[in-house]
Amino acid sequence: MTILQFLKQDLITPLVKKIAQTEEIELSLLKQLLLEGKVVICKNKLRQVEKPSAIGKGLRIKVNANIGTSTDKISLKKELEKLKVAISSGADTVMDLSVAGNLSQIRKEILSASSVPVGTVPLYEVAARAKKRYGNFLFFDKDDLLEVLEEQAKDGVDFFTIHAGVTQRTISVLKQNPRLLGIVSRGGAIMAAWMQSTKKENPFYVFFDKVIEIAQRYDITLSLGDGLRPGSVLDATDKAQVAELKILTDLVKRCRQNDVQVIVEGPGHVPLSEIQKNIILEKKLCGQVPFYVLGPLVTDICPGYDHINAAIGAALAGWYGADFICYVTPAEHLRHPSCDDVREGVIAARIAAHAADIARGRVSSLKWDEQISKARAEQNWRKQIKLALDPIKARKYRISSMPGQHQVCTMCGQFCSIKIVEQCFKNKPTGK
Ligand code: SF4
Repeated sequence: MTILQFLKQDLITPLVKKIAQTEEIELSLLKQLLLEGKVVICKNKLRQVEKPSAIGKGLRIKVNANIGTSTDKISLKKELEKLKVAISSGADTVMDLSVAGNLSQIRKEILSASSVPVGTVPLYEVAARAKKRYGNFLFFDKDDLLEVLEEQAKDGVDFFTIHAGVTQRTISVLKQNPRLLGIVSRGGAIMAAWMQSTKKENPFYVFFDKVIEIAQRYDITLSLGDGLRPGSVLDATDKAQVAELKILTDLVKRCRQNDVQVIVEGPGHVPLSEIQKNIILEKKLCGQVPFYVLGPLVTDICPGYDHINAAIGAALAGWYGADFICYVTPAEHLRHPSCDDVREGVIAARIAAHAADIARGRVSSLKWDEQISKARAEQNWRKQIKLALDPIKARKYRISSMPGQHQVCTMCGQFCSIKIVEQCFKNKPTGK
């Protein structure tokens, strides 16, 4: 049975109880939100997850980190290092987006080493397998798709990104309304190329019932991919993006009717002025199911700094109601990310998520700020560093430039405003 089927029979599983505790939410409210589809718990029934994650309304905003091999960088060891870095930096979930090497082995090792939920994009393995078997990554059919889904489900994957919204209709909308950057989603591009060469409809869309069947059997959360997400702020919220979202609306309903948990993926590249509109649109069309945003990036001009770019968009998206943030690393648009890129990407996304949690009035999030502010006022450096979101970097900076007086830092030194004011109000000698 799926989590939803248990809940419908009024059976509360230990996992649901654990989530209620960690999220500090009433069990009855969590149950209601799960049943309404406004919250999901990404966990394959075959897998033990040390740190399970629930995503959605009323909960802390979650952060995902993508890892995985590319055709130019194939090292399982490196990807396992990245997994470690992502989790130690605070990622709530990871996605294995590997497209090269022994994909089955890579996935199994990542699943066994990960303490957090693991997601995949099964289409990548379908394409990689077709390339290996037939020399062309487009030589696959619906049986190949279902074969990969079944295998990955058996391995314990907790959530799947499924590119079912790239259909003949949405592609024709795209053709009629050309963009600066056509299709930037890897899954969306593979699917569109397959449809173009076979002249057939997207098998994920045609056989969506089969996808649901597998997801239901293993209690896998479906993340409906946005294969037509814009790749430039000039393409944001265009007709093709909205046409795909409307198709996802229908697929969400079908998941919900079958007790399969579902979330919807969103853009992409979106100017600040359009973020709210995007969130409202998704929530309205898709019945308030959790929204999983990639960034969004709010400008196209800062390769090398896209983690900051994405964090700006993510903070606003989170404030307006996005529930799940996919990190973007400084390597975005430039290269395969390193471990340092992964760490910076996760930290940037966590800052955005936390800022949005505060704006949404999450009491425990604000408590954290209160504690560090108190430590700052007390000039308790040990405590400040311990409470920092990235204590490693905070400590490194502090000890790299020690002040003459321990109480202050080398930014203002003897003119430390906190110290001046403290001495002044406590009638201690000031100005020395
Ligand atoms: S020296 Fe300046 S920056 Fe450093 S703690 Fe004091 S007020 Fe803050």
